[in-house]
Amino acid sequence: MSDKQKFIDAASLKSKKVLVCGLQRSGMDAADFLIKNGAVLTVSDIKKPEELKEQIARLEKLSKEIRFELGFHSQETFASQDLIVLSPAVACDSPFVLHALSRGVKVVSEVEFASWFARAPYAAITGTNGKTTTTTLVYEILKNSRLFDKVYIGGNIGIAFAGFADSLTLRDVAVLEISSFQMEFAETFAPRVSALLNVTEDHLNRHHDMKTYLEMKMRVFQNQKSSDFAVLNNDDPLVIAERGRIKSRCYTFSVNADPRADVFAKDGYLHIKTAGGGLEKVIKTSQIGIIGTHNLSNAAAAAAMCHYAFGVEPQLIAETLKNFKGVHHRLELVAEINGVAFYNDSKATNEDSARVALRSFTRPVLLIAGGSDKGSDFSSLASEVLKSSVKKVYVIGQVREKIIEALARKGFSNAESLCGLEECVEKAFSEAAPGDAVLLSPACASLDMFKNYEHRGEVFIEQVARLKN
Ligand code: ADP
Repeated sequence: MSDKQKFIDAASLKSKKVLVCGLQRSGMDAADFLIKNGAVLTVSDIKKPEELKEQIARLEKLSKEIRFELGFHSQETFASQDLIVLSPAVACDSPFVLHALSRGVKVVSEVEFASWFARAPYAAITGTNGKTTTTTLVYEILKNSRLFDKVYIGGNIGIAFAGFADSLTLRDVAVLEISSFQMEFAETFAPRVSALLNVTEDHLNRHHDMKTYLEMKMRVFQNQKSSDFAVLNNDDPLVIAERGRIKSRCYTFSVNADPRADVFAKDGYLHIKTAGGGLEKVIKTSQIGIIGTHNLSNAAAAAAMCHYAFGVEPQLIAETLKNFKGVHHRLELVAEINGVAFYNDSKATNEDSARVALRSFTRPVLLIAGGSDKGSDFSSLASEVLKSSVKKVYVIGQVREKIIEALARKGFSNAESLCGLEECVEKAFSEAAPGDAVLLSPACASLDMFKNYEHRGEVFIEQVARLKN
């Protein structure tokens, strides 16, 4: 009997000895699900109880029977389970995991575990960049298509898959953001449609080399049937080189006018080879609500997934692409006041992300940057500023002087150091002309002045709202 058959009925968890390892979001959702279904639960986390007060309180409320192993792991606990559910934070080569495996204990990732109980089809989106944006777009398109009773979104964002997998009915669908970490113990995870957006060097501290990293990402395709769907980025040579390995129906997207792709941008339009065999213009690229070539790529991926796997008509896809204003804190259009557009890209916590943002604008930009010091010298940001449509840079935070010096070295002198984000927004607005954009894309972490990047983004939004009033 396969594991999938063994566990598909959640009732079969009753009295099973299960260890949840890692008590962050996905571990907590898995624990919740296991308690609900009568498993004999142990939870283990390397963090000390003082750091896990909230989690402990929540679990104790659900059951008095849970065994806690906090601040350490023990081989005995790992070896004495029927099943171990791992959070993505726990590495597959942890000695405790290896010990459990050597004793024949079944070890699975949280998404694999959750997938055993999902009755509806699910879509998976992975890649180094653009996962959240594409996942959200697919979710919005499917919701607006009204083809399903309910569309769920989660995985690596929002609610973990284990938080809703067993609620899905056959008339629902789930859209999952999937990270490479979540695929380490995924044996039967089989999405109806999977997309690989791009692969660039990232997380090599965990996966050790690019080959392993790519392998983990390719696992979103490995259990698909020939009737399932794969969506690949035609513009990424590392991704497209893997096409031959895919068993499901494979579709590709391109922003480089490559007519070999199934969805491609050309002459100012996003085109799609329709499932019926024709070629249709989906939308004028300038009408897409999110800006930049990287977002055009995300939009093309979402269009391919929704049209081929779920039959959503191009016209319906276009409507959603037009109205989508971006994911919170990622080049999100916040407001337009007197012809000045305000973009919140607080998620740009490094130079690479800020550079991607700057490349997305043709209109003049007043850039707000700066934050805490991670040791960067900002020369790549300064080079991008020089190439871009940036008129002026307002800097805040620990790295203020560093950024101003980096800009000066490249010959850009229109930069001003200010005390707070509020002041930057006000000053930029007073100096902006209609048609300009005020962009918060800090290229830095926020921890010197804010709780996190979300907090920084909210302060920006509040200040823009104040200007509006
Ligand atoms: P992820 O969830 O993979 O981190 P997001 O959608 O949250 O991706 O986008 C995070 C950042 O990654 C964006 O602010 C942008 O700088 C960059 N990005 C987004 N999509 C792409 C893409 N398709 N290609 C390259 N970079 C991208």
